[in-house]
Amino acid sequence: MSWFSKKPRISTAEPDGRVRKTSRMQGLWVKCEDCNEIIYRQEVEKNLHVCTNCGYHLPWPARERLKAVLDPQSFRELDADLEPEDPLAFADSKKYRERLRAARKALQSPDAFVSGIGEIGGHLVSVGCFLFEFMGGSMGSVVGEKVARVFERGYDKDCPALIFSASGGARMQEGILSLMQMAKTSAALVRFHRRSRPYISVMLHPTTGGVAASFAWQGDVILAEPKALIGFAGPRVIEQTIRQKLPEGFQTAEFLLEHGMIDAIVARKELRPKLEQLLGLMG
Ligand SMILES: [Zn+2]
Repeated sequence: MSWFSKKPRISTAEPDGRVRKTSRMQGLWVKCEDCNEIIYRQEVEKNLHVCTNCGYHLPWPARERLKAVLDPQSFRELDADLEPEDPLAFADSKKYRERLRAARKALQSPDAFVSGIGEIGGHLVSVGCFLFEFMGGSMGSVVGEKVARVFERGYDKDCPALIFSASGGARMQEGILSLMQMAKTSAALVRFHRRSRPYISVMLHPTTGGVAASFAWQGDVILAEPKALIGFAGPRVIEQTIRQKLPEGFQTAEFLLEHGMIDAIVARKELRPKLEQLLGLMG
């Protein structure tokens, strides 16, 4: 691309032309990932982090999501003390321990999953939600344990289970221990099914790798947010493997719904009433 076709950069220059290094305006605006519109942050937050211009579903912090979807003051977080270890003493460009420390500090959360017990429309649910911002929502041994406990709690309390997934897959820094979480969570789910209670899986953008290939796709009801990327491997890897061009929109929630891989696409505003309805019918 030649230099003159570049879009002008938006600067927060002072009237005298000086550009402040740390602007007071920083963080007040959000750029939509889909339509590139710059929107006032408060407006987006009020709109459940959905673009007010095009309706694109921007990332919604896990705790805010749980607060909005569950009945007021009904959520009780559990297993918040579980913290990952570094069993392989893994280091790539950075030590795993350092990555964990930085993510914990930035997000005030011990790992990429928050879980507990809550109510939706008065129905008790064992619930969990991924924090994609925490190392790409990757599933290591602690995330796997917490997911398994969502099903175990559902079994013990004889109530439905609900998981919101957003993940890049297994946490490579924990090697084989991460991959084992796929079997572990699936086994916990099989045991939970003996209760004949529903497990509702909500796939957010993006749900991929070992999470999509285990419990996220094993829901009795599988919901997804609009335009969410859902799949196992990324499209480039698949194209290289099968040496074919993939169809338009492949791995989007809309494509998967059309091909019978998920049950429904639910817009964020409709999420709580939809879950309440499902729990009323099946719970
Ligand atoms: Zn937009």
